[in-house]
Order: sequence, then structure tokens, then C-alpha cells
Amino acid sequence: MKKDHFLYRLNIQIPESFENATAQKDFIVTSTLLLTIIPLAIYTIIMAILTLMGRNNNTRWLDLLIMCLIVFCGLVLVWVRRVKLARYLVVTALFGYSLWVTYQVGFSSVGVLGYVITLLMIHLIIDRRTVFVAAIVIVPALVYVFFQPYELVNPHNLVAYTTMITAIGLLLGLLVGLKDRTDRDLQVSNAIEAAQQAGVSVLSTLNLQETIHRILEELKNIVPHDSASVLLLREGNQLEIVGGSGWDNPEEVIGITFPIPGDNPNSVVIETGQPHILGNAPDEFPPFTQEPHSHILSWLGVPLIEGGKIIGMMAIDSSQPNHFSEEHVRVVTIFADHVAVAIENALLYEIANQAIRRRSILYTASQDVITARADLEKIYSSIHKAAEQLMPCEAFVIALLDESGEHIDGAYLIDKGGRDESIRVPLGEGLSGQVIATGNKFLVDDLLEDKEIDGRHFGHQDQVRSLVAVPFSTGDQVIGMLSAQSYQVAAYTPDDLELLELLAAYAGIAIQNARLLARMEHMANTDSMTGLLNRRAFDRTLAEEIERVKRYGYYLSLMIIDIDDFKQFNDEYGHSRGDDHLKSIAAIIRQTVRNSDLPARIGGEEFSVIMPHTSRLGAQDLAERIRRRIEHTFFEVYSVGHTVSIGVAEYPLDAGSLDSLFDAADKAMFLAKRHGKNQVRTPTQHGGR
Ligand code: GH3
Ligand code: MG
Ligand code: MG
Repeated sequence: MKKDHFLYRLNIQIPESFENATAQKDFIVTSTLLLTIIPLAIYTIIMAILTLMGRNNNTRWLDLLIMCLIVFCGLVLVWVRRVKLARYLVVTALFGYSLWVTYQVGFSSVGVLGYVITLLMIHLIIDRRTVFVAAIVIVPALVYVFFQPYELVNPHNLVAYTTMITAIGLLLGLLVGLKDRTDRDLQVSNAIEAAQQAGVSVLSTLNLQETIHRILEELKNIVPHDSASVLLLREGNQLEIVGGSGWDNPEEVIGITFPIPGDNPNSVVIETGQPHILGNAPDEFPPFTQEPHSHILSWLGVPLIEGGKIIGMMAIDSSQPNHFSEEHVRVVTIFADHVAVAIENALLYEIANQAIRRRSILYTASQDVITARADLEKIYSSIHKAAEQLMPCEAFVIALLDESGEHIDGAYLIDKGGRDESIRVPLGEGLSGQVIATGNKFLVDDLLEDKEIDGRHFGHQDQVRSLVAVPFSTGDQVIGMLSAQSYQVAAYTPDDLELLELLAAYAGIAIQNARLLARMEHMANTDSMTGLLNRRAFDRTLAEEIERVKRYGYYLSLMIIDIDDFKQFNDEYGHSRGDDHLKSIAAIIRQTVRNSDLPARIGGEEFSVIMPHTSRLGAQDLAERIRRRIEHTFFEVYSVGHTVSIGVAEYPLDAGSLDSLFDAADKAMFLAKRHGKNQVRTPTQHGGR
């Protein structure tokens, strides 16, 4: 822009480019206003001088004063750039003045000038409709005047008549135009209200497409068009159609994308941030010559702006050429603002909703893992369930570093909905080995491309393609890994990685707690000297087993083992050797019983074995093996205390209750002692061996 331009000095903005039609129009109107006011001002000054010199009898001082006022008001209004208001006021004033002068003197040069200026202004600011209405009044009136006899209509008053008639016609036209404009404004505000209501309903229905459709249907009543679409800017500079109206098959249109920049008018709107009109689209953009756009001749696009940022655009089209005007741009822009707000609301609602949903899922997961206590399986499935709700989870892995720190147990492996057998890999191998050894987290979009990660560590032949994997730890020690995996490429976002890290934090705490609890429980139930169940655990276990036997109706045997002459052993070898001997005998008992049997140390040098599903005969057999092994082991080592006496009893054969079973076994053991020790007895076995 040239800074020394006189319009610039008058504070009138010359638009940088005339692509922006509104700016163009404002410029033309304002400069025309000046160009008409300035001659009027000069004319007024000349008239004033002539009148002062007494050489002008036609113009009166009042006329001059009124002209001065008009010039002054016009200049002030232009100066403060209230262009629109200025042009209306000046036109109205000139109009009124020309009428008044015509009425006063029948003919005056000032009246003619006012008339000419008025016409010029009206031509610039009043739309075609007003001129049309004016013409309907003016033309017949003029025809009527022209056909009057010469005495009535001479050249002198013909101009006066013409001026008056034209003025009246234009005034009528203007009134009709104004009324029309008011009607349209009313319609627009109704539509805006509807649009607002539609915007509000976004919050309750969250149905963005429905809302956009509703807003666009309202738009159709005000700006007739064939179809309308709302497009949002997506990552990678794509414009995607997210909603619209006027299509036969909306499903086919929604989701269509346009490259930005590209050979399309959308690019113009997005890049300039300004509305754009095409009067004959195929002339300017070749894509409009092709299906499915070939019916479009007129096109109007306006940007969707939210918080000062272009988030997309809205476009309407028509099969008529030159269908859209600047007036349409104004209305469509208002609607676009509502669409932008509706979209923003919907997005915010979705974000808020998602945050609430996530928080609730995470909260549930935290509660689930807390109540799971020592139940690792429940912890695994709670974490898995939460992950499934938060992100794609076609495969899911929980891997743990074992207590030795050398291996990793794939403790929970889910693939395609099924659970895989746990596997064990050396630390450092496979995905879990890598994550646990390095403590790094991973987001992999495509495993086929990413050679850094070895994702093929379990499961089906099909390869998962993308994954997120995070370590979990207690203190600074990494103890395991969580990984969600998908058969789709790029199924995960950094958001998912963050969520998985939250879950991993829960998993770390819960699994560590479970391990501590298990350890404490083990300690509380175990005899520290021998590692067998202690008396407390024995009593509880026996009660539970008897309950189970009662419920399911099978049988159970109990064995009580007492070392023979142990007092003497202590006297002979010392108490410390006695302790070692107890440990050795406990070890023999543990090695001899079967996995399902439950050995315990129930007193100083007394042991017991609970044998579920075992008859007295079977129990006797086992007891005999224990007795023989002990005797065999220590026969040549110790001279005393190298044998045991064992009593065996069966429930329900020998006893009908918990207490009586124990008493029966104890009685059998006592029988063994009484019959010479180093032997196995049942409660009813009184005879010799
Ligand atoms: P019997 O053949 O009749 O069973 O004779 P016994 O000497 O084994 O008699 P009893 O079963 O009453 O003996 C219990 C002895 O076991 C008493 C105690 O000196 C010894 N004892 C109990 N607990 C321990 C222990 O924890 N360590 C050691 N070294 N000795 C223990
Ligand atoms: Mg004893
Ligand atoms: Mg004893």
C-alpha cells in the first residue's frame, strides 16, 4: 500500500487485495462518498462566495447551511470509518434535501445535484430489488408526465417533476428494500436461534452430525442451495467432510478428504482464512468438471474459526451460475460461527466425557487390585479388563521378573481372547525381557518396520503389528511389564502409553503387595525350623479338609509321627544335634509324602501328615515307608532316637469328627509306642507286628 496516497492520509483503508469482496465494496463506497461530498463542498463554497458578492439570487443562506451540515456530517462519518452508517445518513440527508429544494423552488441546480448524487449513492448501496421496485413506480409516472400537454410540462418544470417522481419512487423502493432486509434479518435471527438451540442440543445428544445437519437445514431456508458440507482440518493437512445436508447418500460423502493445499477452492478458504465465492466453478477448478461435482456451478466456502484458529470450513453449492452474493457470505458466516461452536462443544464434551470414563475405569481397576490382595490372578484380570476398556487389546501381556532375577515369567498372556500357557524366558530376551532389562517403555507403530523390538515372544503365528509396552516397578527395581498389542498397524497413541503407565503403577504396587502378603502368610503358617506347616496352620488345614470331606463325601487319613526316645537323644548328642536331627527327619517326611499330602510339625518332636483322598490302608503304606526310610537313614548314625513310632487313622472309618480323628491317630501312635516303638499302628490294631 502506498503510504502517501491521499485516501490513506484520510484514514481510509485500501484493501491489500480485492479478493475480499466486502473490503472492496467498502472501499468503493467510501471513496465514492468522498468524491461526491468534496464537489458538493466546493460547490457550496462557490455558492456562498457568489451569494456574498450578490451575484446569486437562486440559493438562499438556509440552503447553504444545510449543505454545509451534510458535508460536515459526511466527512466526520467517513473519518471515523463508520462507513455503513455514513453512507446511509448521507444518502438520506441528500435525499431529503433534494426533495425539500424541489418542493421549494420547483427547480434548482442544487436540487439537480442532490438528485444526481442520490442516484449514484443508491446505485452503489441499494440492491437490485430496491431499484426494481423504484422502477415500477418511476417509469409509469414519467411516461404519464411526458404525455401531458406542453403548457403543463415545459422543459423548466419537467426536471422538477422528474426529480420529484424519481425521489418518491426511490424512497418507496428503499422502504420496500429496508422492510425486505428487516424480514431477512428476522429470518436470520430466527435461524440463529435455531442454530443456537441445535448447538445446545449437541451437549445433550453429542450427535455432531445431527447438529450440523440441523444447522444446515436452517441455513437452506435463508440461503437457498443444493447441498452443504462441513469439513474439519485433520492431521497431515487433510480436510475431512464430517457432516452436511442435501446429499442422497450421506454415508458415501462423510469421510471424504481433500488435500490442503490442493486444486480445490477449499484450499483458498483455508489458506486465506476468508470466504470465497465461485460463480462458475468448472471455469476455475477442473475437479468441478468431474463427477460427483459436475453439477456444481456456484460455490461458496467460509472458514470455521474457533478461538482464532481455523478448524475447518463450511461450503454450500448450487447448480445455478452466479448464485451466491456478498449478502449470502454474511449469513453463511454467522452459521459457520455456530457450527464452529457446536463442533468445539462436541469435542470438549467428548474430551470431558472421555476423561470421566477413563477416571472411572482407572478407579475401578485400583479398587479391584486392592481387594485382590494376594490373589495374583485377580490382579492380572483386573488390569487386563481396565486396559481393554481404555485401548485396543487384541493381545495383552503381564510378565514378571522371577525372585531370582534371572528369568521372566510370562504370567498372563492373552491373545485373540484366549489365555496362553505361561512361559519363561531369560532376562533380556523378547519384548518383556527387553522392557524389564532396560526399564524403557515402547510405542511401536509397526513391528515389521521396527527391528529394535522382538515382539514374537508368544502366541499365534499371526504377528501383532503395533504395541505399547511399559515396565512396572517397586521402588527402583523393575519387576515386570505390561503390554497391549494389536494386529492393526499404528493402533496406539502416546495417550494410550500414558494410560498403560498408570495401570502399570497399579500393577507394580498390587503385585508387590501380593508377594509380601504371600510371604507373610507363608511365614505365619510355616515352622521356621523344618519348613513344614506349623501347628496353627495344621489345625486350620485339618479343619478345612474335614469340612471338604464332609461336603463331598470322600475320605481322608491322618498320620502322627513321634521320634522314639528323643529325650535320650538330646542327652546323648546334645540339644543342637537334636535340632539337626529334627530337620533331617522333617526332610525325609517331606520327600516321602505325595504332593497332595500336607506334612506339619505339630509339637517338639512330633509330626503329622494330612492325607486327603487316602484310605487307612494307603496311609499305613505311606507311614511304613517313612518309618523304614528314617530307620534306614539313621540306623548306623545314632545309637538312640533313630526310629519313629507312627499312628494312622482314617476319617470316617476310625472317627466321626475332627477332634476324634486326631485322638484316634494319637491313640494309634501311643499303641505303637506301647508295642515297642519303631512301628506303624492303627487305633484298632492291638496285636503284635
Ligand atoms: P518316647 O519314645 O516315648 O517318645 O520318648 P521321648 O523321649 O521321645 O519322650 P517325649 O516324646 O515325651 O520326648 C520329648 C522330648 O523331645 C523332650 C525334649 O527334650 C525333646 N524335644 C522337644 N522339642 C525339641 C526341640 O525342638 N529340639 C530338641 N533338640 N529337642 C526337643
Ligand atoms: Mg513326643
Ligand atoms: Mg518321642
